[in-house]
Amino acid sequence: MAKELEQRIALVTGASRGIGRACALALADAGAAVALVGRAANDLADVEASVATRGVRAASFVCDVTDPATVAKLPALVHAALGPIDVLVNNAGAAESRPFAKADLEHWERMLRVNLTSAFLVTRAFLPGMLERGFGRVIQIASVAGKVGAPYVAAYTAAKHGVVGFTKALALEVAKKGVTVNAVCPGYVDTSMTDASVDNIVVRTGKSADDARSILARTNPQERLIEPEEIAATVVFLASAAARGINGQSINVCGGATPL
Ligand code: NDP
Repeated sequence: MAKELEQRIALVTGASRGIGRACALALADAGAAVALVGRAANDLADVEASVATRGVRAASFVCDVTDPATVAKLPALVHAALGPIDVLVNNAGAAESRPFAKADLEHWERMLRVNLTSAFLVTRAFLPGMLERGFGRVIQIASVAGKVGAPYVAAYTAAKHGVVGFTKALALEVAKKGVTVNAVCPGYVDTSMTDASVDNIVVRTGKSADDARSILARTNPQERLIEPEEIAATVVFLASAAARGINGQSINVCGGATPL
């Protein structure tokens, strides 16, 4: 039986670990060829090997998604290796927390660059090809921080709200062209990003790592961390033909933490 995303070519930024890695593997399981983008060649090579075991084509591209010149070169390189991109997953991101009084301009701009401007740069690079071919899926990995606020993460929260706004606006602009633009908004996911938040709580409060992890788990009404594979499954659905009517949406995967 044909797989849902056979014949499709996907690109995942931040594919070296965590949610990006899970998305790459799930897209491969659904039959898509996958381009893997990140800064660490060795980690990408490991994920590429895992993708290849699914019997689909894979290729890795070392690229800092905040660097406009490097991102601009990606479409030609990816096209030469795999072909034109149908499904773009803007997943790369970073979360640094600090009290607002200690948030200098450099921190603010770093958070906006890696979480918001990167999505603009990579989308700008690949959207023209999607519009030309009359099919495309742009999927942003935003956050519940794109819907609600929290203390100590003003810059990250501003960036993720920006991703949600960017998604709504672009979705309307391309609505008649066979391209959809959506976001997935996870709560705390069990990845190294959350491990860093746990470490931060331990240092700040003196609590144990287990207690710190429980505090984060309890932000989810289901009292658990979300698994990266749950985000990946939502991404695969948004990439599917069945999801063609879903456009401009920011879908929460957070156990019901926010009704927004
Ligand atoms: P990880 O820290 O585990 O992974 C982040 C990924 O992004 C890595 O592959 C990293 O690769 C890549 N990356 C970071 N900066 C850059 C850059 N400048 N250029 C290219 N790649 C980069 O994070 P998660 O998997 O947890 O998070 C993935 C996304 O999900 C992020 O956008 C995050 O904000 C979002 N999210 C995460 C949540 C969580 O609880 N974990 C909750 C809500 C949203 P490398 O460093 O090797 O380049």
